Amino acid sequence: MLGLMQEHPLLVSSILRHAARHHHGARIISQDHTGSIIRSTWPEIAANAARLAHGLARLGVKRGERVATLAWNTTPHLEIYHGVSGMGAVLHTVNPRLFKDQIAFILADAADVVMFIDASLLPLLANLADVLPPSLHHVVVLGDGEAPALPIPVLRYADLIAGESDAQDWPVLDERAASSLCYTSGTTGDPKGVLYSHRSTVLHAMAGVMPDVFGLRAVDVVLPVVPMFHVNAWSLPYACPMVGASMVLPGPKLDPASLHALFEAERVTFSAGVPTIWTALLQWLRADPARRFTNPPRLVVGGTALPVPITAGFAEGYGVPILHAWGMTEISPLGSTNARKPENADWSDAEFLAYSRKQGRPHFGVDLRALDGTGAPIAQDDKAYGELEVQGHWVASAYFNRETDPAFTPDGWMRTGDVVTIDELGCIEIVDRAKDVIKSGGEWISSITLENIVLAHPDVQLAAVIPAHHPKWDERPLLLVVRKPGTDPSKDSILATYEGRIAKWWVHDAVEFVDSLPLTATGKLWKAELKKAWADYRLPG
Ligand code: AMP
Repeated sequence: MLGLMQEHPLLVSSILRHAARHHHGARIISQDHTGSIIRSTWPEIAANAARLAHGLARLGVKRGERVATLAWNTTPHLEIYHGVSGMGAVLHTVNPRLFKDQIAFILADAADVVMFIDASLLPLLANLADVLPPSLHHVVVLGDGEAPALPIPVLRYADLIAGESDAQDWPVLDERAASSLCYTSGTTGDPKGVLYSHRSTVLHAMAGVMPDVFGLRAVDVVLPVVPMFHVNAWSLPYACPMVGASMVLPGPKLDPASLHALFEAERVTFSAGVPTIWTALLQWLRADPARRFTNPPRLVVGGTALPVPITAGFAEGYGVPILHAWGMTEISPLGSTNARKPENADWSDAEFLAYSRKQGRPHFGVDLRALDGTGAPIAQDDKAYGELEVQGHWVASAYFNRETDPAFTPDGWMRTGDVVTIDELGCIEIVDRAKDVIKSGGEWISSITLENIVLAHPDVQLAAVIPAHHPKWDERPLLLVVRKPGTDPSKDSILATYEGRIAKWWVHDAVEFVDSLPLTATGKLWKAELKKAWADYRLPG
């Protein structure tokens, strides 16, 4: 027997419609690259999103076609988010910090038809002029500026929406229709497109506002530091209108002083960003004892692990709690958060701070499992290693434009490439990327753990652990160390750092000193490059 309930497709347009009808009082504040502030409301955002959709239809944009943005967190970008998906086209956010050939690849792969670009990025547009895809028929500039000469029309955003109707006559789409597209950053190989649906986007935002996730309320004032080109700013452009929260959009000015000024002036209660942002903010706060938060906000961190001293520094020094989250482009991105459970509800703050290094537990809507090298689920004993796999309503089932990919298992899970332990409470801790873990005689050694330990040595500036070929054990860890200028530590003193801290069989067979280590565009150790350079290395003895 079927239930007797109404059925409405889960559409992105329904979110803004709700905010415009029921949350007039929320404030949407946007700062552009010059620092000037624009204030609006959800009804105004909705009206402009409708004008934009009508303007794009006039330019010939059809359902399913991709519309690119190269833009910061601003009000126009928010209007484009909702207008493009609302009309049935596909919002394709592009990271302006990628290399030119990566952007060219992504624009061509997506076959974008219109591209929105922030006025502050016009020099980038000039640089991209010779690689724009043939599918592109219009460029629209957000703000004022001199656009480079292009063979296709270049419009201004204000002109595109001026005179258009603000009627919010959003089409009723199939909820499985594509709503937006993001590419993985891909440190090896070409970026891969993840194509979100209206249904996955709405469900993901509903999960995002749950108490143990972002816990958003109508009275919150939310400042997404995470860019709107980084996995849909972790759902905040949808989650905020869903609950009627206010938003503060900081534009490209993300230095600690500018951010802190916005937090204070707009009474921000919640913010989300990557560890580098929060680490820089903490350093800036500590530089002057007069720097405080009048109303300490709640912070969420993800993207890489946040060192516990930073979490502790915010909590103990400023009364600012930080929630540790894990996610990835392929999962929209929210996968887990480290919020308390009944089992650790009574732990002291110090105990829980130490625990907050872990990435947490899944929320309803995603499921996690970790398999060892033989394909068996690992024990939840905080010790066994396995590769994390994920399944759920907002998890990709395939990549855009690719028929198959080994990331997707025959039984419907997605391999994350993250190696984890799981403890008795079901909390995961990422110990490495699968491609970087050292596979020594069937056992796995975490390269990240070894690197973190040796960084405590007073003479070590930078360290990387990569596998070296071993005739018996297959792989053994090789430690590459950059010494601090003016120091000359012995190899034995370096290896002594490990004593008593890890199992004996984990300890390096070899240590080599190097002048520098290669880094990727995002400042992470470029292990693929290192492994190539050291491929012929022979272990001593
Ligand atoms: P991206 O798709 O670019 O967002 O990258 C996703 C990857 O970032 C994950 O597979 C993890 O390796 C890493 N990552 C995300 N969040 C965390 C976290 N909280 N701690 C450690 N690594 C993380």
